[in-house]
Amino acid sequence: MKIVCPRCEQDYVVELRVRRTGETLFACKECDATWFTRDAIGVAPFVDLGTYLKPKGIVTSREEIETIDDPNPIVSKRRR
Ligand SMILES: [Zn+2]
Repeated sequence: MKIVCPRCEQDYVVELRVRRTGETLFACKECDATWFTRDAIGVAPFVDLGTYLKPKGIVTSREEIETIDDPNPIVSKRRR
């Protein structure tokens, strides 16, 4: 999957899994825009990953969030 983030156009959207809930999300690592299905990317409104997970008591860490599909060449580096 190689979908450029329609919000910031700076990075690809990666497929993530929230370990605690088993939920699959699609998020941009650059701006944290998040969609819930692949088809929704760029179509449906996005949510902010941190804002979405916070009420669930989940922080956006590597322990909580598993990357399923990262089209970016550098997987571990998170640009800020
Ligand atoms: Zn983005």
